[in-house]
Amino acid sequence: MSRVAYVNGSYVPTADAYVHINDRGYQFADGVYEGITVCKGKMIDLEPHLDRLWRSMQALAMDAPMQRGPMRLVLTELIRRNRVSDGFLYLQVTRGEAVRDHAFPAFSIPSFVATCRRLNLNAVRARATTGISASTQPDIRWGRCDVKSTSLLPNILAKQAAREAGGFEAVLVDADGFVTEGSSTNMWIVTKDGALKTRPTEDNILAGITRARVKTIAEHLQIPVIEESFTVEDALAAKEMFLTSSTSCALPIVTLDEKKIGDGNPGPVAKRLVDAYFDFMDA
Ligand code: PMP
Repeated sequence: MSRVAYVNGSYVPTADAYVHINDRGYQFADGVYEGITVCKGKMIDLEPHLDRLWRSMQALAMDAPMQRGPMRLVLTELIRRNRVSDGFLYLQVTRGEAVRDHAFPAFSIPSFVATCRRLNLNAVRARATTGISASTQPDIRWGRCDVKSTSLLPNILAKQAAREAGGFEAVLVDADGFVTEGSSTNMWIVTKDGALKTRPTEDNILAGITRARVKTIAEHLQIPVIEESFTVEDALAAKEMFLTSSTSCALPIVTLDEKKIGDGNPGPVAKRLVDAYFDFMDA
């Protein structure tokens, strides 16, 4: 757990960190967030994360709680105060406190909370060595999944259903049988020709920062990347499947709905990408 949290201008012990009951984040999930991995004290892909946070705020006509420079300083200070080397930064901005009414308040001060906890990157890497199981769940989310909103009920329900089915992650599937993304991850397959396939970001999914980084790494390794939707059947027929996210990095999926992907073990392409991603974080 984060020992020190940043809450609207103060660094406070987590036990004393509160926001108001009328905060619209609490009342309506009227908020946006980011999650950033910290490796050896360094924030991984900080600038793309801040770009996305600003895009999310803009999409919801939400004022920024501070400028980017001061926010970088707050995050650096939070890592220091929590004495984190490998960890996870969580940032949340809400529209702030106002009398409860669905329409935007005429005036409110955005609320900004950030926490930093330890993340065992060795354990993350060990999990990538064995791979994980996943289960398909219907994607019942809204039409603006590009916004990283704290309104996550469909994601929570899908993840819980996957966990109850013995899986680590839920693979969300749209009404036409196409995989959209994971409940908190982006999805990839390795096709019969050895190319990577992942859904285009224009297509109502979150533009994952790890997705973008892995795409760049793959191109560098001369592994072709095709941004095209794929179905559950395509995934089951694929050589390999894996997910990407800030906290899971690149993580092979070895069974989907209890059916083996490939030979049921992490494949060579995903392994190369896992290694390259950890090298990138370490550099
Ligand atoms: N899709 C969804 C729905 C997510 O919640 C996340 C992580 N928050 C991702 C994808 C992965 O994004 P990132 O690589 O930026 O962590």
